[in-house]
Amino acid sequence: MSERKSNRQRRTEIRERRLKRAEAARSALSQPDVRWSDCENPPAGAVRADRELLARHNNTYGLLPEFYLDRAFTCRDCGEEQVWTARQQKWWYEQALGHIDSRAVRCRACRRARREANPGGQLLREQCERLRALATRPPDEAARRAIDEALESRWWGVRIVAIETLGCWGDRTSVARLRDLASGVERPRRSSWAFQAQVAAAKALAACLPDTEAGWMLGTGLGKHPGGGHLLAALRARPQAFWERALETEWRRADPERLIRLVWAVRWYAGGETLYSAWRPKLCDHPDGRVAAAVRLAWGTGP
Ligand SMILES: [Zn+2]
Repeated sequence: MSERKSNRQRRTEIRERRLKRAEAARSALSQPDVRWSDCENPPAGAVRADRELLARHNNTYGLLPEFYLDRAFTCRDCGEEQVWTARQQKWWYEQALGHIDSRAVRCRACRRARREANPGGQLLREQCERLRALATRPPDEAARRAIDEALESRWWGVRIVAIETLGCWGDRTSVARLRDLASGVERPRRSSWAFQAQVAAAKALAACLPDTEAGWMLGTGLGKHPGGGHLLAALRARPQAFWERALETEWRRADPERLIRLVWAVRWYAGGETLYSAWRPKLCDHPDGRVAAAVRLAWGTGP
């Protein structure tokens, strides 16, 4: 009995201490929202934010935090003053992929109470962890079903983890699925799920797409694709043999527009005199004059 009481006391003390630290951090900086500060020496208790990771799933590119600080908040349900710690924030924004504008609104106890009142509702953290665990072994029927369900989740963070899992699997079925997700809508609004899905799928594909299938990337329009940066980075890493194969394939496909895109891709990502000299005469004789024009523009007039 007395032990339980002391536990409770200890928790209260911890909370008091955290509240004090949050207050100190707040007053140490003059900015209305300390997270946006880019000061060189963050106050005690600050946790560095991974801005690159955040940028991948937030559209507010310029407004990403440099670091997290303990934040005091008043629980929406019980009205108690609580602290959302810097570490909890890092987990929320970087692991659960909560939107950067989202905030803690309920204390732990009230969150648990809500969960118990609604046993069907799955805990976001648990679900993300389960999905990540699936990524560590080859998929079976049940795992694929779990991913299908996760892709329908009302939480974008859960859907994105599902997409990442498909990328980790990287098998034929998963690659086909990712291609569908990456192709989707043309020019989606930045604030839409379609946009987020295309970025996440492009990133997952860039990591797992086998060389023999990488030609698909050239068909996406790349620069115009929301996740084009990831695809381009993957293309840049392809060996010379990949570009030779791509030229062969696109030559046979007889789609001048794709061929022109490839000519430019070779210029920017594979630029090599051997490729230029081997392919220039053939491409310049292409029945569609635009191909020869592109070659002259992209590769120079050459020898
Ligand atoms: Zn509460």
